[in-house]
Amino acid sequence: IFSTIPTAPPDAILGLTTQFRADRDPRKVNLGVGAYRTSDNQPYVLPVVRRVEEQLASDQSTTHEYLPQDGLKSFCDASARLILGPNSPAIADARTTTVQALSGTGALRVGLTFVARFISPNTNVYVPKQTWSNHRNVVPASGLPPTVDYRYLDSATGQVDIEALVQDLEAAPPRSVILLHGCAHNPTGADPTKEQWMQILDVVKRRNLLPFFDNAYQGFASGSLETDAWSVRAFVDAGLDMLVAQSYAKNMGMYGERVGALTVVASEKGAEDAIRSQLKAIIRAMYSSPPKHGALIVATILEDEKLFKEWEGELTKMSGRINDMRVKLKAALEKIGTPGTWDHITGQIGMFSYTGLTSQQVAFMREKYHVYMTSNGRISMAGLTDDTVQYVADAMKDAVVS
Ligand code: PMP
Repeated sequence: IFSTIPTAPPDAILGLTTQFRADRDPRKVNLGVGAYRTSDNQPYVLPVVRRVEEQLASDQSTTHEYLPQDGLKSFCDASARLILGPNSPAIADARTTTVQALSGTGALRVGLTFVARFISPNTNVYVPKQTWSNHRNVVPASGLPPTVDYRYLDSATGQVDIEALVQDLEAAPPRSVILLHGCAHNPTGADPTKEQWMQILDVVKRRNLLPFFDNAYQGFASGSLETDAWSVRAFVDAGLDMLVAQSYAKNMGMYGERVGALTVVASEKGAEDAIRSQLKAIIRAMYSSPPKHGALIVATILEDEKLFKEWEGELTKMSGRINDMRVKLKAALEKIGTPGTWDHITGQIGMFSYTGLTSQQVAFMREKYHVYMTSNGRISMAGLTDDTVQYVADAMKDAVVS
């Protein structure tokens, strides 16, 4: 029965980790996967997370009972407040429906399945031409047609090509889904300015498009949770129907615990019960109910003023180290006279730098220097340390001149 199954190609990003692990060279550096690493290149458990976890473990009233399909209510409420703002008009009017999801990917998957069922299975989902590669998997897996690209980056300037972007959205049929990275665009590190966001908002509203915000990096772009939620809140304030995915993988370091949320914001009140019932039905058939452990930790932190402040301090520290690495990599490249300009390394936002290296140069660095990155030249700044930044700069120069 199974003998004719073909082997699937490895995932563009996760396949790199497998290759990296198998590499025996002691100089190897992994700049592929977007997980934060300390200045000693170690995985990081936020101290505030560790403490809450210990408290929960010793609390005799903590149980392992099932959560309902839509997850932990306190977690969902706090997540909606975090992204939409505590004074959001949509929350005040009770026009929001939030369900817990299996991190950001799970939130996208549930939200897109909802679109396939209740908007139309023929709905086109527009994604930026440069985007997180898994978007192109999740969309058809949710029962929708393959993604359609909208132009995003002006490669000459490294900035958002707003004219081209708006032009492509103008051509999208009404009720198409427009996938937007809320902040810290992955992989380009180029976000629209506030003015450009308003231009996007204008076309989305005029053309009756359905925005789906993917927020995997709230707090990681600017270091401020509020600033990073600006785009989402501007769209909510404009009174649009929209979907919002949230992930706590990066900003709370909860990667493997799969903690996330999906919020449906309706422009008009009245459909909340129907929306919730349908999201619950989708989840029931997919995995019945979400895991409890991570959501309980996150909810405890979000609901306690002191713990929340401590978390904000951690975000400042993590985004600070990433920015420090940007400055050091750029300085190292310039000092050794690497051909080209490297201002974009410090100009970009978020966890990644879109270096401009070609796929051939990426392969060269992997083979000769054991430096791993995705074939589009994206490097995770969090994977760099004071000990490796010069080595990586030397390898980049060699790749550029070879
Ligand atoms: N969207 C984007 C743009 C991402 O970069 C990521 C993480 N790499 C995700 C969604 C989802 O990640 P997770 O499922 O781990 O929350």
